Amino acid sequence: MKCAECGRELDRDECGLSYKLISRAATQLYCLDCLSRQFRISKDELLRLAEQFREAGCTLFL
Ligand SMILES: [Zn+2]
Repeated sequence: MKCAECGRELDRDECGLSYKLISRAATQLYCLDCLSRQFRISKDELLRLAEQFREAGCTLFL
């Protein structure tokens, strides 16, 4: 899976965050850089979010 904006290869956290922030049914996924630009959230904040989702047991992040 590649970022819909910049084409960079996505890791699992980036895919998971895209599903969480956009929609579980999202067909276009984004990397941390593009997500942070779109949602005006810092990359640190995104990584913290991913960690919280993982701790909550969200299967997108396991
Ligand atoms: Zn990107």
